[in-house]
Amino acid sequence: MNNPFQNALQQLEKSAKIINLDMDVLELLKIPDRVLQVKVPVKMDNGKLTIFEGFRVQYNNWAGPYKGGLRYFPTVDLDEVKALAFWMTIKCSVAGIPMGGGKGGITVNPKELSVGELERLTKTFVRMIAPNIGARVDVPAPDVYTNSQIMEWLVDEYAKFNGQEDLAVTTGKPLSRGGSEGRDRATAMGGFYILQKLVETRFIASLPAQPIIAIQGFGNAGSVMAELCCAAGYKVVAVSDSSAGIYNEQGLDIAKVVEYKKSTGKLAGFSGVKDISNAELLELAVDVLVPAALENQITIDNANQVKARLIIELANGPITPEADEILAKNGIKSVPDVLANSGGVTVSYFEWLQNIEGSHWTEEQVFAKLKELIVPAFLNIWQMHEEKKIDLRTAAFCLALSRLQKLWYDATMKLN
Ligand code: NAD
Repeated sequence: MNNPFQNALQQLEKSAKIINLDMDVLELLKIPDRVLQVKVPVKMDNGKLTIFEGFRVQYNNWAGPYKGGLRYFPTVDLDEVKALAFWMTIKCSVAGIPMGGGKGGITVNPKELSVGELERLTKTFVRMIAPNIGARVDVPAPDVYTNSQIMEWLVDEYAKFNGQEDLAVTTGKPLSRGGSEGRDRATAMGGFYILQKLVETRFIASLPAQPIIAIQGFGNAGSVMAELCCAAGYKVVAVSDSSAGIYNEQGLDIAKVVEYKKSTGKLAGFSGVKDISNAELLELAVDVLVPAALENQITIDNANQVKARLIIELANGPITPEADEILAKNGIKSVPDVLANSGGVTVSYFEWLQNIEGSHWTEEQVFAKLKELIVPAFLNIWQMHEEKKIDLRTAAFCLALSRLQKLWYDATMKLN
């Protein structure tokens, strides 16, 4: 199994060479600023104690407070969280927002916990990390299998430690507790704006005006992307979640699929479609493939079977470095995670800003500001990709690393 942190370091070294990154900056970026590894004891409903393992990695804060989600998933481990925290550092820099990189997680399958157990798990974890987080220090958010309810519990528990409520300690909160309009759709919206731009500009000649799309993962990111594509008249032929993959050559009725997933909690059993495996979904003859589940999905083993002309990485780290090389050789463009899914952290930053300013923006304002940031970032990276003849991921990393290097130089100049 690929170690995601090793993948992240490979990507770092590759781009550092291209821009001749200062060796000191490179060494500093290879190691996180701080790693918190905590035990999270929870009294389960049956009266027995279970001890979970939790992590918060604060990778880099040259641009601003550490920022990144909390993931509750059975396979969470330190290397995964370190990789995700590193990618957040790059992502915030690509997005051009004054936030640093962080990430957290608990090794748990939250689907096996009752609501009470989940609340106790979250609040115990928050007590363990509370001295190290805060609105100006480290601002968590939702990620895989976490949501606005969990963020609300975080706010409540942190208030006990802090002596008063501070809504800006986390983002992705419910609207009634200082959440931002549009946050739940922001990740997909950002990826969609880029896809729309690619269709409009015809940068990829083989990309039709109404592309055929397959989406892996039908959670927050994937399901909203499916809705947006459908609304734009694009044909979504396949989607999948951890329970099943479904396919219809004529295009899926996404509104019905969303409704079904909402009522049953899974895609398995949706009628009138062909069942496919996740592996088959990745290899479908579509125009656009959107990985929106987990990392390491396209690897050396299946990269040669990918037939899409374009990949929009809504998931973090879905393509391994070896697979990246194969895709590039096969002429497949991939809009990297650090750009494609940066809509999420950008609107998280907007939420933090609204909480600090005590303001409330409309959804139109939020999405207009998101578009203003993400489309120029994409065009900038596309231009660098063409000029330097490098893939889009490397171009995005080069842009981020040069910005980070400048921040480091500015900060060290102030110290001297
Ligand atoms: P989510 O928990 O809402 O959804 C995850 C989806 O992946 C679910 O549909 C789940 O069933 C599916 N899944 C899990 N294992 C799978 C497997 N083996 N094969 C296929 N599908 C599987 O999570 P999300 O928030 O949508 O996040 C998805 C990805 O997007 C993650 O990589 C996350 O880091 C990334 N991301 C999310 C956001 C955000 O704002 N939600 C922001 C940036 C990046």
